[in-house]
Amino acid sequence: MGAMDCETDLLFEATGAAERKRVGGFEYAEGAYCGGTLIAAKSLMGMSNSAACAMAGILGFSPDAFIVQGTAGAHAEGLHRGDIVLAERFVNIGRYRSAHAAEGGGVHTDRWDPLNSELFMDGRVVKTLELRSDRFMLETAASAPYDGGRLVRGVHGSGDVWNNEADRIIQLRNIYGSDCEEMEGFAAAQICAAFGVPFLGIRIISNSALHEGEVFDEAYAAGCQRFVLEAARRILAL
Ligand code: SAH
Repeated sequence: MGAMDCETDLLFEATGAAERKRVGGFEYAEGAYCGGTLIAAKSLMGMSNSAACAMAGILGFSPDAFIVQGTAGAHAEGLHRGDIVLAERFVNIGRYRSAHAAEGGGVHTDRWDPLNSELFMDGRVVKTLELRSDRFMLETAASAPYDGGRLVRGVHGSGDVWNNEADRIIQLRNIYGSDCEEMEGFAAAQICAAFGVPFLGIRIISNSALHEGEVFDEAYAAGCQRFVLEAARRILAL
């Protein structure tokens, strides 16, 4: 699943499907791929779209595994455009709770505490700050070759946010431990966890506010999809 056309066009092409199925605004296609079945999905941007698209996709296609992928902005200084971050974990960087301050008491983003997400998992309601990708999917994806940059494991920070202030990005990294930010991962992972579908996040860095000139370039999304298709080929062989 990806949010935008530039993040999903190669995936849809790889299904070989002549037409897309539409559920509301969400788009899906399914086809034979490397001895298995590949389902491509386009969610549009943001957490609500991601959750709804993941759920309609899970109910409609019963996938055995789920990859949420696309572009991301760097939170770690060592990451540059073209690097790929495999999600060991997802955190929701849009959830926080502030301590009380009276009028005139100011805004102290450094003191906003991460707020648990509530979700249904393994048959009960749990509260958690993080969701973990499937170990086998992660290991398998990590074994795929990639020559467009570094291939690292890390934390995907998700939220309906786009941060360009370096100080805020550094603060988020300190508070949430995020290596990059995007707008769909945690929401899709939350739905996958609720439905018992193993999931993995794969993101390519398309922008970094921590390095001059590394502005958003959607062209990187193609490199992510090519890597995802190779990772999917290996995961299908598991
Ligand atoms: N030209 C588009 C670009 C959107 S990019 C526009 O302005 O409408 C936003 C998408 O890419 C989201 O789906 C998100 O998952 C991902 N993304 C890439 N870089 C991001 C960043 N720095 N912060 C948040 N989301 C980012």
